[in-house]
Amino acid sequence: MLLTITTTQAPATDLGYLLQKHPNRFQSYDLSFGQAHVFYKEADDLRCSACLLLDVDTVGVVRGKGAGEGLLSQYVNDRPYAASSFLSVALSQVFRSALQGRCNERPELAITPIPLSARLDILPVRGGEPFLRAVFEPLGYVVETERHPLDERFPEWGESPYYSVTVSKTSTLSDLLTHLYVLVPVFDNQKHYFVGDDELEKLLEKGKGWLSAHPEREEITKRYLKFRPSLFREALARLVVEEEPLEAVGEGDERPAEKAEEALERPLSLNEQRHGTVLAALRASGARKVLDLGCGEGKLLRALLKDSQFAEIVGLDVSIRSLEIAQDRLKLDRLPTNQEGRIKLIHGSLMYRDRRLEGFDAAAVVEVVEHLDPPRLLAFERVLFEFARPRTVVLTTPNREYNVTWENVGTERLRHTDHRFEWTRAEFQDWAQGIATRFGYSVRFLPVGPEDETLGPPTQMAVFDRA
Ligand code: SAH
Repeated sequence: MLLTITTTQAPATDLGYLLQKHPNRFQSYDLSFGQAHVFYKEADDLRCSACLLLDVDTVGVVRGKGAGEGLLSQYVNDRPYAASSFLSVALSQVFRSALQGRCNERPELAITPIPLSARLDILPVRGGEPFLRAVFEPLGYVVETERHPLDERFPEWGESPYYSVTVSKTSTLSDLLTHLYVLVPVFDNQKHYFVGDDELEKLLEKGKGWLSAHPEREEITKRYLKFRPSLFREALARLVVEEEPLEAVGEGDERPAEKAEEALERPLSLNEQRHGTVLAALRASGARKVLDLGCGEGKLLRALLKDSQFAEIVGLDVSIRSLEIAQDRLKLDRLPTNQEGRIKLIHGSLMYRDRRLEGFDAAAVVEVVEHLDPPRLLAFERVLFEFARPRTVVLTTPNREYNVTWENVGTERLRHTDHRFEWTRAEFQDWAQGIATRFGYSVRFLPVGPEDETLGPPTQMAVFDRA
């Protein structure tokens, strides 16, 4: 497996600084799957070409694994010759600093775009030349290809899936290596050497600034995260909100705090009033297919189930524990046959775009937004109002101004240890108005619970209608 990187930017031997590999030396590196060798094919002022030669030890790789495909294909295969995920792993180890855009001796070189080309001697291209171009050309590369016959001695056997590919562009070396790192495995049909739990993180990290805008991003992501459909879905959702790097949302058990919040509000029975008001708003919207987002233990779901107007009910929560409790309380495994299929609980996060949330008439989001970190609210807004886009959204959140009426909360504290914020009426209305304007909804505000003349109601509610 051979990768050749060439520059014609004089003095071209600066490539040695960029790669941190001296042009006069032949260097070898031990990797977990074989050896990598770095040497220069040519190195003068006008043109400099560095080669990365991978010597994949197929036998060693097979030994480390259980028997998978046929025994023969385990030992006799294209891995030693074809560019694949092995190359990505090698790039990240042998050219680590160049990939990261660091160059200690000459830092300015690392950030200067120079004419560069990368030649992959043998790249198996699933999807053929059109796909190859569709992947590299939007990134500004000039692509040259040469397809290899299956066997030169027997032209009648036809073409092989192998190409020699050269991509050229004026860019930083780090950009070029990053694109190769992500894209080389995408053309390959084999199980990737490195598909593991942190592959998604690597993809998002290396895809920063270019992958989310790439027209083939779905296909690239799907193939990169081969055989991992759940990772693929998560990746797509996260590419939508790439500007705000996200960590996985925790599933910490919030129940004790939930209990405390409930106890605090019990004299008002605010919880029931809230669900009653939300239910009324959902009814009034005429909705038949409804979502309860952040459904928790399913109190609102129970009320929805009792009303035959709601023909399809879906509850979503990020906490598996809550969903289990809801499943239990609603006795979902013992529903009469005529009710089966009317309600479904799904595990998911409101941070991530989710196709399962599309096509609903209305969504309830009851006491959920205040659990989201403010930077993530933006992701939530798009997930709900841009992608899921129900006709009506009924959303409630505490009114912070009201807290002074509760001795044990006061002005300083929030009602719940997991609340990231609580809004005054003005703050909430501001936020909701912004959403309405941005996503083409109208919005009105309604009080929930006994209203205080100056402080307003304990809970505030917004009803959004799609314009
Ligand atoms: N709507 C319910 C529960 C409110 S408590 C009710 O009115 O009783 C807030 C709920 O939001 C919790 O169940 C919590 O697990 C859920 N939640 C928090 N962050 C979430 C996220 N990112 N995606 C989906 N649900 C989330």
